[in-house]
Amino acid sequence: GVPVCECNTCYGGSDCSEISPDCPADADSGDPLFLEPYWMREAAGSAVVVAGWHRMSYRINNDAAAISAELVKQIRRLHSAVGNAITDGRFILFGAGSTQLLNAAVHALSPDDPLSPPAKVLASVPYYPVYEMGTTFFNDRENRWGGTTSTWANKSDSSAAGEFIEFVTSPNNPDGSLKRPVLNVSSVITDHAYFWPHFTEIPAPGDEDLMVFTLSKLSGHAGSRFGWALVKDKKVYDKMSKYIMLNLFSVSRDTQLRALKLIKVIVDGSKVGGKDIFEFGYSTMNDRWRRLNDVVSKSNRFSLQSLSPQFCTYFQTIRDPSPAYAWLKCEREEDEDCAASLKAEGIMSRGGATYKTDGRYARLSLIKTQDDFEQLLQHMVALVSKEGGAQ
Ligand code: PMP
Repeated sequence: GVPVCECNTCYGGSDCSEISPDCPADADSGDPLFLEPYWMREAAGSAVVVAGWHRMSYRINNDAAAISAELVKQIRRLHSAVGNAITDGRFILFGAGSTQLLNAAVHALSPDDPLSPPAKVLASVPYYPVYEMGTTFFNDRENRWGGTTSTWANKSDSSAAGEFIEFVTSPNNPDGSLKRPVLNVSSVITDHAYFWPHFTEIPAPGDEDLMVFTLSKLSGHAGSRFGWALVKDKKVYDKMSKYIMLNLFSVSRDTQLRALKLIKVIVDGSKVGGKDIFEFGYSTMNDRWRRLNDVVSKSNRFSLQSLSPQFCTYFQTIRDPSPAYAWLKCEREEDEDCAASLKAEGIMSRGGATYKTDGRYARLSLIKTQDDFEQLLQHMVALVSKEGGAQ
């Protein structure tokens, strides 16, 4: 017979376009699909077509690292258009996502001397768990996971120099705050994954020694697996390059080509009315944050991280917050596992324990599709409106 089209359980209506309110809200992953509508609008100008015989070699101009000079040029243009990083006097290298570069950076900042004790790799709570997972999993002789910075904060005298590698995530995942190193003696890896006007004010260009960026949170093309690092020190750059070389040879040339096209569209559209991805990203994220805040402000059960309006050098104005994630706190005694309480109400989040902090917190992703967000908001409205009645 004729195959019958069935909607996925979360959708109904004649063309499966209506979201069912019974469907759970999935605010778990950090998949940045909020930018999909921008790329639909820019579909023709952002398309890439590659003939079968193009770009077949391992190498570009006989260079095995195969770093596209044109892409490096566009990345420098991008940072100068956005004003979020100084690229002068920095080496640029590419990785398969920023994940690979973060691992390369830990390796590169660890001591060379086999007689040196391993470097302790640290981050400040609440932190992105992959730093710890990666460091522990790769288990290099030259470094080991050292826990949270607060454990070592008294170790700030210069005799401790070289002992510590500190991850600084700015803005932070999960809470969106702009962070600085806690130890003043550590080698620092600055993870600027979210340092774009979509998610934060840009107070001044990033000027740190080792900065890591990713296409994932800039353009939303997380699946292309493209990241880059800006590195001041030649020796650190060389060690990172060797790590990437032995891990991968080089970042896929197809990915580089796609990144080149997308970044060109972004830079050419920057500050151009209707074409500016940052205007689009900011207004989308700010709208979501405002609407969620309106709901949560009526609640005694939940609260959100507090972020205040700040001057942004990109927009040249004071802008309201627009974080990538809501860092929700469950205020009631009985909600000590906030993520479990949310799950019982049909909201999937990531609990505080994942970020090595109190289970009273949970992260809600605000960067997924509009449908995902609307579903989350509907569930939050229902949850908060229940508060007034039976407690
Ligand atoms: N750093 C942070 C803080 C992140 O949140 C993520 C992804 N969610 C990454 C790095 C990794 O991103 P990618 O490997 O896609 O560049």
